[in-house]
Amino acid sequence: MKIFTFLFVAFLLGLIAWFIYHARVKKSGFEVPPAFPERWRSFLQREVNFYAALSAAEKLRFESDVQHFLKRVRITGIGTPIEDEDRLLVASSAVIPIFAFPNWEYQSLLEVLLYPDLFSQEFDFTGHDRSIAGMVGSGGVMNHVVIFSKPALRLGFDNKSDKHNVGIHEFVHLFDKQDGNLDGIPAVFMQNQAVLPWLHLIRSSTEEILSGKSDLILYASTNRQEFLAIAAEYFFERPSLFQKNHPELYEALSSFFKTDLAKRMKD
Ligand SMILES: [Zn+2]
Repeated sequence: MKIFTFLFVAFLLGLIAWFIYHARVKKSGFEVPPAFPERWRSFLQREVNFYAALSAAEKLRFESDVQHFLKRVRITGIGTPIEDEDRLLVASSAVIPIFAFPNWEYQSLLEVLLYPDLFSQEFDFTGHDRSIAGMVGSGGVMNHVVIFSKPALRLGFDNKSDKHNVGIHEFVHLFDKQDGNLDGIPAVFMQNQAVLPWLHLIRSSTEEILSGKSDLILYASTNRQEFLAIAAEYFFERPSLFQKNHPELYEALSSFFKTDLAKRMKD
């Protein structure tokens, strides 16, 4: 009898999940195609260097991760239309940092908002003093939201050599926050004994930035979490150059993200 109760409950839960998913599809007017469209594949090949460098089998896994992300997380344009390309860039930004962790996902994230331009702390995207390209929400419902300027998100992938990618930057903040703290120490993905050397490395690298001896941008010296996110942008966009200029940081990030990227990505 118990097994029937279990099956019945499982069936009910499945039905509820199905209804929630389809209610969302109806609301957003977007449904994730069951088969990965060839047009999406060639877009990723052209725009996302990380994807282009994967083996054929890994590409299939990346595509399935993208589909899974798009089924779970709603992407909403605020005052700007959303195209499949934007959805693919958001999903790629999310998948890249966690590609080596097949069963891991951004549990707390429910929605990504795309704004038509840079925005201010007050979420204004039309007035003066707008300089924010991306932001991980915090407090209340904002804990489940990430916001991007749509043009900044696109530029992050269009420019493949400037060591910057706001999409990857914000998702690395979520990666960092997985242990409950946005503090530049992705503890869930680190051995305990690696924490102290990592803090020393952040301190010495920050000193180099402040004395003008580093090609990491000044913003990385703001605090530890910005240091991690900026270093990760560089790591994922120009892994070979990053390894050459910052061998110790390269080793640290390779271990956090479980990937020796310079070996296969040409940059
Ligand atoms: Zn940041």
